[in-house]
Amino acid sequence: MSAASIDRTRLRTLHQREEQRFVAEHPSSAALAKRANGSLVGGVPMTWMMAWPGGFPLFMDHARGARITDVDGHEYVDLCLGDTGAMTGHVPAASTAAITEQLGRGITTMLPTEDAVWVGEELTRRFGLPLWQFCLTASDANRFTIRLCREITERPRILVFDHCYHGSVDETVASLEDGRVVARHGNVGPPVPLEETTRVVAFNDLDALERELAHGDVACVLTEPALTNIGIVLPDAGFHDALRSITRQNGALLVVDETHTISTGPGGYTAAHGLEPDVLTIGKPIGSGVPAGTFGITEEVRDRMFARTDADYIDVGGFGGTLAGNALSLAAIRATLEHVLTDDAFARMIPLAERWERGVRDVIDSHGLPWDVQRLGARSEYWFAPNPPRDGAEAASFDDPDLSAFTHLYALNRGILLTPFHNMALMSPMTTEADVDLHTEVFGEMAAELIA
Ligand code: PMP
Repeated sequence: MSAASIDRTRLRTLHQREEQRFVAEHPSSAALAKRANGSLVGGVPMTWMMAWPGGFPLFMDHARGARITDVDGHEYVDLCLGDTGAMTGHVPAASTAAITEQLGRGITTMLPTEDAVWVGEELTRRFGLPLWQFCLTASDANRFTIRLCREITERPRILVFDHCYHGSVDETVASLEDGRVVARHGNVGPPVPLEETTRVVAFNDLDALERELAHGDVACVLTEPALTNIGIVLPDAGFHDALRSITRQNGALLVVDETHTISTGPGGYTAAHGLEPDVLTIGKPIGSGVPAGTFGITEEVRDRMFARTDADYIDVGGFGGTLAGNALSLAAIRATLEHVLTDDAFARMIPLAERWERGVRDVIDSHGLPWDVQRLGARSEYWFAPNPPRDGAEAASFDDPDLSAFTHLYALNRGILLTPFHNMALMSPMTTEADVDLHTEVFGEMAAELIA
């Protein structure tokens, strides 16, 4: 069977049935969605929330642990977990206690707190990089890092891999089309043609990487250790060693974005595989949902940074933000690292993801579906093609929006939330085997109906 041979008429009919069920079972969300259209762009607080399947988003009443309850009183196993922002599980007790305490002691003052020192030391223990700065999001961390790399190398461009995603960062919203760098399809308001700021090569293509870096104008290569935003695309054996030596040879800094790949373990893919980046960026789950991002640098990068005596790192030079490093974010990061995303937590989360992967694979195999499933630590994802992709373009060719929308809506109607942009499940320290097994059961029912 090929993906195309899934009966599309049947898929449409089943999808319509699921949509009707969704509308019938969510009258309170429907009423709020209708009202929201009067005051919110697209009826949502941020336009990407329009991506939820079913025609309108669920409105959340409360979220606890690995569960979310909507305003109609339905409870969901949350495998989306805020697309990693809530990988800690929702409102973990230790973080809530620390956040609540800090709320009573001051939120933002422009002064450092002891928590910042503790967190810097802990980040060094986990990721190896000795020196840290804080911001509010992973996009911020990447944005400030790119500026820093351009400043200290005096080079204008960055290099990213095709189909990467690093947040709302101008230089990164690029893609490769017929060998040319262009603005990624749908890029909202690029300031200049992307070829002026960015070189793009396919993931795992070391020849292209070497060729592009040989121009000598790349300040940094910014990459996830494995692509995660176009499905999971793992690096070939030897890719990271080669990436490190080619960047060193060419004087380009290496920036590793661990925002999603922290799923690999307590020190991300970097610690698990002994990577040696010049800069490491991360955001999303590190504050248990409180906005927080950070980037770590080597001593050499710090020395080169402060050797640039004209660079204004303090006032209006475009580096940092007023709320960056605020006391509340730092208290939240400390609690998250000390008590929530611990070594023990990963030792529970990773076997859960293995269980999820096994369950999905059994369903795929038993129904003879031409699909596959991949995993990176506590994160696992299925796609609609039989073999793992080697680069972003191949992964993108597996995209099947109709099938994704159906599988997500089918799961949602049966009490399981998946991230709208990914066929992905993430495990939190509070996820249970029963949660995973519920997904396997529902995924099996869905497959059986689809090919009946
Ligand atoms: N880096 C990576 C790898 C991401 O996946 C994302 C968001 N999905 C970001 C950075 C940006 O995160 P944020 O939107 O929280 O700034």
